[in-house]
Amino acid sequence: MSAFASKNGVLHAESVSLPDIAARFGTPCWVYSRRSLETALDEFQQELLGIDSLVCYAVKANSNLAVLDVLARRGAGFDIVSAGELQRVLAAGADPRQIVFSGVGKTVAEMELALTIGILCFNVESAGELERLNTVAGSLGRTAPISLRVNPDVDARTHPYVSTGLKENKFGVAYEEALTLYRQAAGLANLEVSGIDCHIGSQLLDPAPFSEALDKVLVLVDQLAADGIVLHHIDLGGGLGIRYRDEEAPTVKAYLLPMLAKLRQRQLRVLLEPGRRLVGNAGLLLTRVEYLKPGEVKNFAIVDAAMNDLARPALYGSWHDIVPVVPRQGAALPWDVVGPVCESGDFLGRGRELVLAAGDLLAIMSAGAYSMAMSSNYNSRPRAAEVMVDGTRAHLVRRRETVEELYALEQRLPADAG
Ligand SMILES: *Cc1c(COP(=O)(O)O)cnc(C)c1O
Repeated sequence: MSAFASKNGVLHAESVSLPDIAARFGTPCWVYSRRSLETALDEFQQELLGIDSLVCYAVKANSNLAVLDVLARRGAGFDIVSAGELQRVLAAGADPRQIVFSGVGKTVAEMELALTIGILCFNVESAGELERLNTVAGSLGRTAPISLRVNPDVDARTHPYVSTGLKENKFGVAYEEALTLYRQAAGLANLEVSGIDCHIGSQLLDPAPFSEALDKVLVLVDQLAADGIVLHHIDLGGGLGIRYRDEEAPTVKAYLLPMLAKLRQRQLRVLLEPGRRLVGNAGLLLTRVEYLKPGEVKNFAIVDAAMNDLARPALYGSWHDIVPVVPRQGAALPWDVVGPVCESGDFLGRGRELVLAAGDLLAIMSAGAYSMAMSSNYNSRPRAAEVMVDGTRAHLVRRRETVEELYALEQRLPADAG
C-alpha cells in the first residue's frame, strides 16, 4: 500500500495527517516517507539476494541527509557526481568503499578528495579524464580504481533532456573507442582497471533498451578479457522509471531478471545506480491555495509553491498528480495550478478537475526525485522545509530557509564607492 493514503477522508503520510504537518511546519513543505524509501530499496535488494552486488543510490535525485541516512542504514552505496555530493554522503555516514563517482567534469580537487577518502570506483567519461586521474593519483601516491562509462548508442526512448546513451549525448566514451581507451588505461601506472559502466537515460519505462545496452557492453567485456584485461564489476547505471500518472512502469523484477540472467555465468560484481526509482514516489510537495482566480478562458488556482520549488513541470512539461488533502463535495472545474513566480511557465499542473476553495491544502505527488534537489531561490523565495515521516512521527529534516540567509553572502558596495 502507498505510504500516502487517505484515512477518514484526510490524506496522510504513513500515520501522520498532512494538515498536521502543514500546521507544524508550514507550507510549502516537502514530505517524505521513510517506509516508502525502504520499500523501494528492498525491491532491488530482494532481486539481488545471493548475487555479489551493490545498489548505489544516485544522490542527485534527492540529496537530503535524512534520505541518504535511511538508505545507507539499509546497506545502499552511493553514486555521486561532485565533491559536494561526496561530502554529503560522508556526512550521512556512507562507507567510502561503497561510493562510485560519475560525471563528465571531475576537477583535480574533486579527484584528490575522492582518492584521499578511498572510494570504490571512478566512472571515467573521457580520455582527458583518464590522463588527469592518472596524474592526480600519481601525485598523491595512490592508485585510482576506474571503470569507463561506455556509451552504447542505444535509444532509451525517453525525454530528450534525460536521454544519455546516444552518440549525440555528452556522456560516456564512444563504444568504438572503448577498447583503445581501456588498453591505454591498463598501461597507466596509477590506474587500476576495475569495471565497466553505462547509464542510458532516465525515466525509462521499457526494459528492452537496458538489455540491449548490456548486450553491447558484454561484447566489450569479452573483447577486453581476450586482451588480458579482466574486469571485476559491471555497473548498469540507473534510469528505471516510475509512475507519475498512468505510466506502466516495469517492476524491478521485470527490469532486472533478464539482465541478471545474462550475467549469471560471469564472475562480475553487479552495481546499479537507481535514483528516481528509490525516491520519486516517496515524496510529495504540500502546498496551500492562496487565491482562486476563475476566468473566462481559464481558471487559476494560485498556490504557495512554485516553479522555484518544483521545476519539473516548467522544465520538462512533467505531469504530477495533484490531490486535495481534504476533498470537498461539489462540481469540479478545470484549474491551472500555478505559483506566484513571475513567469508564465510557472505552473504545477494545468486543467486539473478539482473542487477547490482558497485555503485548501494540495499534495503535489511523486515529488521525491529531482524536485527539492533542483529547487532554486528564484524571486528570493526561501527553499521550503523538508519533513521525513516515520510511522507516527514527523521529523524536520531541513528547516525552511530564511530570507536573511538568501542574501547573507552578499554585500552592498563600500561606503566610499561614491
Ligand atoms: C542521473 C544518473 C543516475 C540516476 O538516474 P535515475 O533516472 O534517477 O535512476 C544514475 N547514474 C548516472 C551516471 C546518472 O547520471
